[in-house]
Amino acid sequence: MIIAVDGPTASGKGTIARALSAHFGLPHLDTGLLYRAVGRQCLLDGGDLDDPVAALAACAFPEGLLLDPELRSEATGGLASRVSVHPAVRQALYERQRAFATQAGGAVLDGRDIGTVIAPDAEVKLFVTASTRARAERRFAEMRSQGRDITLEAIAADLAARDERDASRKDAPLVVADGAVVLDTSDLGRDRAVAEAIRIVSEARA
Ligand code: C5P
Repeated sequence: MIIAVDGPTASGKGTIARALSAHFGLPHLDTGLLYRAVGRQCLLDGGDLDDPVAALAACAFPEGLLLDPELRSEATGGLASRVSVHPAVRQALYERQRAFATQAGGAVLDGRDIGTVIAPDAEVKLFVTASTRARAERRFAEMRSQGRDITLEAIAADLAARDERDASRKDAPLVVADGAVVLDTSDLGRDRAVAEAIRIVSEARA
């Protein structure tokens, strides 16, 4: 069984995908991490993130980079959203994601285009979303708990810019896939959101 989990930044899709992976005993791939690695590698190479040739070269990042904690930062998320607009980058990362999705026994993948491009054949597709305000507040609480000095306004502006870039790019924009169930987590705590996702997947399997 392939479970596709898509949605915007800070919607809760990563938490939900990890919980589904644990509950159904399926391997999980956070595809955003691949784009983050490309953005980070391009920066380390001194390349221009907006240049498709430099961004494509960065797709040959070393595997060890995926373990770099810097990949989880807001700043790297912004770099990822810039390199992810290039069709050549998306193509270069396609095979790896497709192979993961189609492995024997199934898998859970989360990202932006899993249900539309990587695994349109997924048995279950979830589109996890939440209001910009709810997403900004979550990210704000998370960053403040890490001792980061940042304002809610700055986070909301960054989220809005990334949403706009992800939704308006020509290749694989963030859209609700055909057949996807939309799960709005704006008013749900973590546990309720996870329980709801498990219920949706269980129903789809039955
Ligand atoms: O999900 P995450 O915030 O880690 O993704 C970082 C960026 O990578 C997104 O803003 C998006 O531009 C890009 N991405 C993508 N397709 C995916 C996963 C992530 O374009 N499947």
